[in-house]
Order: sequence, then structure tokens, then C-alpha cells
Amino acid sequence: MEDHRSSKFPELTRELLADLKQVFQTGEGQPFIFPATGSGGWETALVNTRSPGDRLLAVRNGHFSHLFIDCAQRHGLVVDAIDVEWGEPAPPDRIEEALKADADKAIQGVLIVHNETATGVTSDLASIRRAIDAAGHPALLYVDGVSSVCSLDFRMDEWGVDLAITGSQKGLMLPAGLGIVCASPKALAQNESAKCSRCFFDWGDMQKANATGYFPYTPALSLLFGLQESLNLLLEEGLENVFARHHRLAEGVRAAVRAWGLELCSKRRENDSDSVTAVMVPEGVSGADVVDVAFKRYNLSLGAGLARVAGKLFRIGHLGALNELMLLGALAGAEMAMRDVGIDIALGSGVAAAQDSYSRSAQPLTAAR
Ligand code: PLP
Repeated sequence: MEDHRSSKFPELTRELLADLKQVFQTGEGQPFIFPATGSGGWETALVNTRSPGDRLLAVRNGHFSHLFIDCAQRHGLVVDAIDVEWGEPAPPDRIEEALKADADKAIQGVLIVHNETATGVTSDLASIRRAIDAAGHPALLYVDGVSSVCSLDFRMDEWGVDLAITGSQKGLMLPAGLGIVCASPKALAQNESAKCSRCFFDWGDMQKANATGYFPYTPALSLLFGLQESLNLLLEEGLENVFARHHRLAEGVRAAVRAWGLELCSKRRENDSDSVTAVMVPEGVSGADVVDVAFKRYNLSLGAGLARVAGKLFRIGHLGALNELMLLGALAGAEMAMRDVGIDIALGSGVAAAQDSYSRSAQPLTAAR
């Protein structure tokens, strides 16, 4: 490891913080990099901006939004949850209604998971911002972007996101180990009066050290070097191209699911996620068995159904450093695993549908990587 107290180290810190602002699409936001994961990102966003007893409004539409709420509650925050069916996005109309009903503006924050990885559903942050504005409500907008940032369009400034949270192991294409949060000026101002207890996750210590190019404790140095490389790759490809590539790849996966005759967990086509697809399995078959057979027999890692949807689905992740052929391999493996556990699908049907989708949406030859 290099010396993280060396006189050269600040160059890395400064480059990372500047490049992170680009991927969050923010001018004024302040990024923080903690040795943690996405869950640590939730915690640092909450404890640095809130005091015990504060009220929050949250949408629960899957396992990760449930855990985000749980994190807030364990810190003594009071959460009004809007429960929707898993597979549905966060409903802007219900958010607006709840905020309008909060006449004395007691609600201090709105918690949303941008891309619910458990169900493969992306919520529309622009509409949620409009709903908050239509209610004339000053609540901060807390957004879990763990499986969206760097894979799906995420416009922190334009959508008025106050706390944007992500981890290193998804769109940033690294091993797990970094919890990254970007705070708006409004969120930073809130830090001064926030009374939730904190030490390791304190922004004050981090800001003081980062201002000189250092960290308040030993940073996850190898991951920081990895992050530098990931950010270079993303910015070199261009964010617009990264998002377009994810959309193109996801369209192929959805074409494969249709060809298999199976349903998505996501209920509305306009909210289908471009970073993960959750595929419902037929009655009488366990999605967990598909995942296990895929892993043991074909060395393919699919995602299992979590909590309420355990056994009912399996998930195909399609984000990060990925291209058409890699995904076609995953689709072929998923087909074999499904066939092995007794799901009646025609081998090759999904692969062919995805191939067709990819060849129709093929990039000009000059853009081939
Ligand atoms: N939020 C979302 C949307 C996730 O997908 C995950 C993990 O997959 C988390 C939060 C939790 O992140 P971590 O497992 O890195 O703590």
C-alpha cells in the first residue's frame, strides 16, 4: 500500500472528489467517500442531517427501501411509510398528497430508492421532485442510487436530490467496500444542527481532512485507486453513452424474458430497470433453485428473490462493465438453469430474441469497443 499521509496523496483525493461530482451530475454537491457499503451510505446520509425524533416520509416498494426505512428507524427517526405493491415504482401522487397533508411541515425528508434492485423497478425522480415542489414542501430528498448511479441517468442538481447515496460494487464496477454520499448545500447546512450520534461517519471530520486532501482515518486505498480507474472509464465512454448502453443491454434481456413467456416483477413497462431484471418463475418452481443450479452447474451468478419475493423470482444483473456477448452468455446460462429445474422454455429462445434486439440496435462500427 502507498502511504496515505504522503505529500502526493492529496492529488488522488482531489481528482476523485471532482470526478464524483461529474457522475452525480452536480455542481454544488459535496461528495464523501467512506470505507463502507451502500448501507453505510444510508447511515451517513441520515445521521449527518437528522436528529432523533425527526419525521420522514418514505416509499417502501421492495427489500432495499424496507431496509433504508429500517436504518432510519433504528436511529430514532419516525418514518411515515407509503407501502406499494412490490413491482410498483414510488408514486409521485401519493408523495404529493402526504406532503400537502403535512400543513405544519413536520416531515423533514423524503426517502426514495431510485432503482429497487430487489424488484427491477426504477422510480421517476423528476416526477417525485415535481410532486415535492407542487406540495411546496421543504423536505430534503434522500435518494438511494446504489444500483442506478453510473448505470442510469442520475441528475442530482436538476432533480433537486439532497442526499445521493451509492456503493462501489455496482455501476462503479469495483469490489464492495466504499459507501459514497453526495450532499447538496441544503443537506450540508442541515449537518450543523443534526443531533444523531456519529463518529466514524461524521461529515465534519471528513470535510476537514478532505479539505487538505486526506482522510480522517486509513482510507480503503486500493479501492480509491480502483475508483480513479472506474471514473476514468465512465467519463471516457461518456455518461450518455453509458446510459444508452445499459438501456440497449436491458432491452435485450426484456426481449429474452418475453420470448421465454415469463413475466417481470416490474409492473409498468416505463419503470422497467435498465440495470437489473427480476424474472417471475411459474408456480410450483422456486427461483432460488434456478439461482443455485445456475451457480453450481454453470458458474453463473444470478440474484435471488429477497424477503417477500423470495423463491418467486430470480434476477439478472446487467450493469457496469458489460457488453452484448457477456449478457448473451448469461441468458444462455439462465435458460439452461431454468430448463434444469423444470421450467418449460425453449432453449435458445431468449438468446435469439436478445440477439435480434442487439443486432437491431447495433452501434455504428466505429463505436464498437
Ligand atoms: N440499496 C440498494 C438499491 C441495493 O441494491 C443495495 C444492495 O444491493 C443496498 C442498498 C445495500 O448496499 P450494500 O449491500 O452495499 O450495503
